[in-house]
Amino acid sequence: MSNSTRTIGFIGAGNMPQSILGGMIKGGYPASSIIVSNPSRPKLDMLEEKYGLFTSQDNHEIAAKADVIVLSVKPQLMRDVCEDLQKHVPDLDKKLIITIAAGLRMESYYEYFSNDIALVRVMPNTPSLVGEGVSGLVADANTTSADREFVTQVFDYVGITIWLEDEDAIDVLGAVAGSGPAYFFEFMHSLQRAAEDLGFDSEQARAMVQQTCLGAAKMASESELSLVDLRKQVTSKGGSTAKGVEVYQQAELNNISKRAVDAAVARNQEMA
Ligand code: NAD
Repeated sequence: MSNSTRTIGFIGAGNMPQSILGGMIKGGYPASSIIVSNPSRPKLDMLEEKYGLFTSQDNHEIAAKADVIVLSVKPQLMRDVCEDLQKHVPDLDKKLIITIAAGLRMESYYEYFSNDIALVRVMPNTPSLVGEGVSGLVADANTTSADREFVTQVFDYVGITIWLEDEDAIDVLGAVAGSGPAYFFEFMHSLQRAAEDLGFDSEQARAMVQQTCLGAAKMASESELSLVDLRKQVTSKGGSTAKGVEVYQQAELNNISKRAVDAAVARNQEMA
């Protein structure tokens, strides 16, 4: 199917689908081609009012109308929701199915539906909620290149997309990009505390750290230099920054990050 006319139906109207569809509309995707289901009305009423979307409390209705179904319920509900759709909605194997649920492997969906579905598993991270996400994507052999282009377009609205060759890489992406915001918050808080210890109040210390982090990320994203070269560029030999960086290097920051990522990958694999 070509991408121009696709109706995308979100099953579940929680925080993540709201961010994705909000990003799509902001980016120019027609609201008339986005439909949503949720068991209770308040979120649907809000989406109708805010964007004029077609909504329903009936998953069957939304899945039947959609060309592309985005399964957006919590992983623990996924089996029930999918098996119910499989029972009541015809031609699911003619639609594209996207799942954003964390932790559930693709083989589960073939069990809930059938081996014939065209499936893309997407692992968005939490900064997608503010349009600065990283989404890891894996597609199965039943998807077409137009399907994959469509999914790229959808998730590019809320950040960047990274296609992965195999599903195991999602565990690694999860350990870096999924867990990454928590690592950065931990590091930022440690810098905030260091500023507070030297007399700053917490508000100023937090603002200083937060803006520095944002500024550094922006510089990195706008530069072609490697991160090592960027670091060198802001570090004069023998200066104060060099002294500070030396402390991190002596504490083997590289090694700490490697251990953190390895631990998170191992946990993701245990939970899969
Ligand atoms: P959420 O708790 O905000 O929303 C879940 C929604 O599902 C609720 O609106 C609920 O009413 C609805 N729901 C419950 N039962 C349903 C049913 N039978 N049919 C249809 N809808 C039903 O959750 P969220 O944060 O939006 O997460 C949704 C999915 O996204 C999850 O699978 C989660 O693993 C995945 N995800 C979320 C994040 C994140 O940062 N929030 C990151 C990666 C992946």
